[in-house]
Amino acid sequence: MNAVMPTYGHPTVSFERGEGAYLFDTEGRRYLDFAAGIAVNSLGHSHPHLVAALQSQAERLWHVSNLYNIPDQVRMAERLCDLSFAEAVFFCNSGTEAMEGAVKASRRYHAVNGHPEKWRSIALESSFHGRTLAMLSASKNPKHLDGFGHPADGFDLVPVHNMNALRDAITPETASIIVEPIQGEGGLLPLEESYLKELRAAADEFGLLLVFDEVQTGFGRTGRLFAHQWTDVTPDIMGCAKGIAGGFPCGAILATGAVAETMTAGTHGSTFGGNPLAMAVANATLDVLTEDGFLDAVQQSSAALMSGLDSLSEKYDTVLQGVRGKGLMIGMIVKEPHTNAALGEAAREHGLLTVVAGQNVLRMLPPLTIGKTEIDEALDAMDKACASLVSAGHG
Ligand SMILES: *Cc1c(COP(=O)(O)O)cnc(C)c1O
Repeated sequence: MNAVMPTYGHPTVSFERGEGAYLFDTEGRRYLDFAAGIAVNSLGHSHPHLVAALQSQAERLWHVSNLYNIPDQVRMAERLCDLSFAEAVFFCNSGTEAMEGAVKASRRYHAVNGHPEKWRSIALESSFHGRTLAMLSASKNPKHLDGFGHPADGFDLVPVHNMNALRDAITPETASIIVEPIQGEGGLLPLEESYLKELRAAADEFGLLLVFDEVQTGFGRTGRLFAHQWTDVTPDIMGCAKGIAGGFPCGAILATGAVAETMTAGTHGSTFGGNPLAMAVANATLDVLTEDGFLDAVQQSSAALMSGLDSLSEKYDTVLQGVRGKGLMIGMIVKEPHTNAALGEAAREHGLLTVVAGQNVLRMLPPLTIGKTEIDEALDAMDKACASLVSAGHG
């Protein structure tokens, strides 16, 4: 028996060093990292500003718990409030924890406001909100639930982009609507702005809270600090994690004041959440993301990468049937009988790392710091990967 539980299969590649958008494995082979630890290493590997922040914090103080005031946590929260709809922030350690806390906050808000019967959440099919028992039930992916008993009660699923189904699902027990502005694991599906607007309108009409899962889309991934900032729609609660601290485990729940004030002392908590090490790196990450022109550069990289991939999609129309996504969260839709896994493996053989998603989509989630050299190199590797699938297919 392998000492590591087999939940991740048996990955064979081991990396020992990273530098910018590149990873080096234990055999010294170099890879272009367009997986970025699943949208986590937003500034690439070994970013000097993050390394300096981590090192200097490590020499002073790692962890104290939330029994004490943590000045860098207050600073990070204030900065996030300045940069978003939020009026208060709770820090945790992961995406699923952020979303679970977001759901708790949505229930608590109604309970404190005289509606304890409002506790259910409406969520979308093909969504992903994490792996705790409650968050599995918020997506009800049969593959993820298999063997884990009955899904937790409290989540009602409706199909994406269907307002009739959504409005039909609203009952006197509904507390909130939970959506990812761009479905990530489900296959890189951006929700239409008109749909997000209708969700906001339905939430307002029925007194529900709108909860965005920006665990993957947040922190610059789409070319804005948060994906919903491309639209006029703001949520009441938002969960974040992945890119928030460039690779240091960290999550956050952002909320309006009306929600946050109901999360009174003792209602929620975390031992590790927002500790000095995490907050040092999160603040340093935010320093870079908010530099003048940083997100503009992300948008430019996105345009170049998307247009290159569109051309590949035309060139290899038996392998690809289009490209979708936003910013540097890009999905290539693979055409059957080819598979995203086979294309991803072929790309890896040509030195490019990517990530699979649902609906036979292969994701590119590069560091937000990439430039023309990395984009050209990725397109070249992907060109060769597509070619190898074509020749294998005819083989
Ligand atoms: C990754 C992800 C999660 C879960 O995050 P973890 O840190 O793995 O718990 C939740 N929601 C979305 C949209 C994600 O992409």
